[in-house]
Amino acid sequence: MSNKVYRIAVLAGDGIGPEVMSATMRVAEEVEKRHGVQIEWKDGLVGGAAIDAKGKALPEETIELCRSAQAVLFGSVGGPKWETLPPNEQPERAALLPLRKTFGLYANLRPAVLYPELVACSPLRPDRVAAGFDVLVVRELTGGLYFGQPKETTQTARGERAVDTMVYETHEIERVAEVAFRAAAHRKKRVTLADKANVLETSLLWRKVVRGVAAKHPSITLDFIYADNAAMQLVRDPARFDVLLCENLFGDMLSDQAAAVAGSLGMLPSASLGEGSFGLYEPAGGSAPDIAGKGVANPIAQILSLALLLEMSLGELEAAQSVRRAVAEAIREGWRTADVAGPTEKKVGTRAMAQEIARRVALGRGKS
Ligand code: NAD
Repeated sequence: MSNKVYRIAVLAGDGIGPEVMSATMRVAEEVEKRHGVQIEWKDGLVGGAAIDAKGKALPEETIELCRSAQAVLFGSVGGPKWETLPPNEQPERAALLPLRKTFGLYANLRPAVLYPELVACSPLRPDRVAAGFDVLVVRELTGGLYFGQPKETTQTARGERAVDTMVYETHEIERVAEVAFRAAAHRKKRVTLADKANVLETSLLWRKVVRGVAAKHPSITLDFIYADNAAMQLVRDPARFDVLLCENLFGDMLSDQAAAVAGSLGMLPSASLGEGSFGLYEPAGGSAPDIAGKGVANPIAQILSLALLLEMSLGELEAAQSVRRAVAEAIREGWRTADVAGPTEKKVGTRAMAQEIARRVALGRGKS
C-alpha cells in the first residue's frame, strides 16, 4: 500500500445526483480497502443545491475545493425548480461551463459500452450487436466551430448573414490526440479519426497532426473515416470502433449517437480532462427529475465515472479495472435497475445495485 492520500472533490448536485453519489461511495469504500488506495473525499455544493444555499450554481468555495483536489467526481445538476431562472444562472450553464473553462478541460471522453447481456436495451437489431460493443468517443471540447471567431450575425441588403468559424491550431489537436492514443493503449489499440477531410481545411490539419502523434505511438493503429460514414457505421456495426477521435462538433453528435445505440443513459460515464492529470468525471445523463428521490436510478454511470477517475487522474489501473469487472459481473449475474430490466426481469433499486457491485469489488471477483 502506498502512503499517498488522494484528495477528490465530490459534487453530487441535484436530482438523482445525491442518490447515485452516495451509492458510489459505498463502492469507493471497498475499493479503498481492497486496493489500498487512500482517498480523502471532500463534498462541495454545486448546481441548484448551491443556488438554494449560496445564491449561485458554482460558489467560489466549490471552485477552491476543486482546485485543491486531484479530480472532481460530479453527479448532475439542474431540474424544474431552477428552469425559470435567467439562462446564464441556470445550473448546467452556470456550473458546468465555468468548471470546464476554469480547469481548461479540453478533452471529453465518453465510453459507450453495450454488455452482451443487455443487448435488448439497444435500439439496434440484436444480430447487429449480439456480442455487445465498447466504443470510446474522444471529443475535443474547447475549440472548433463552437468557439471560433468571427461568430456573428450581421445585416445585409438581402437579409441577415450568420457566421460561425471552425478553427483549430496544431497544439489543440495534438493534446487531445495524445489523450486518445494514451486511452487506446489500455484498450484494443486502435484510434479512428472522424473528420471531413474531403471538404474541410481543418480536417486536413487534423489528419496531419494526428498522423504525427500516431508516429509516437507505434503500437496503436490509426485509421480515418468521414464523420458522416462514422454515423452510419455506428448504427451498422458499432463494434468495429475502439477509440473514435473527433473535433468538437462531430464529437458532440457522434458521442450522443454512440450513447443512444448503447441503450440506457444510466450506464454511461464520462470524463473531461485538462493538462496534467486533473479531470472531472460524471455520468453522461442528467439529473433525471422524473425518477429523482425514488431510489430507482441506475448508479452504474456514476460508479463507472469513479472507475475512469481512478484510471485517468489517479493512475490506479488495477482498482479501476476491478470496479469495471464488478459491474460487468453484477450485470452478467442478472442484477438490473429498472432502466435496463426486461419485462420479466427482477428489478433492484439504486442502493441494492451498488451493494452488489461493492460486494464484488470486496471479493476481488474476476481479478486478473
Ligand atoms: P436526463 O439525462 O436527466 O434524463 C433523460 C432520461 O434518462 C430520463 O427518462 C431519465 O430518467 C433517464 N436517466 C438518466 N439517468 C438515469 C439513470 N442513472 N438511471 C435511470 N434512468 C436515467 O436528461 P433531461 O431529462 O433532458 O434533463 C433533466 C435535467 O438534467 C435538466 O435540468 C438538464 O438541464 C439536466 N442535465 C444535466 C446534465 C449534467 O449535469 N451534466 C446533463 C444533462 C442534463
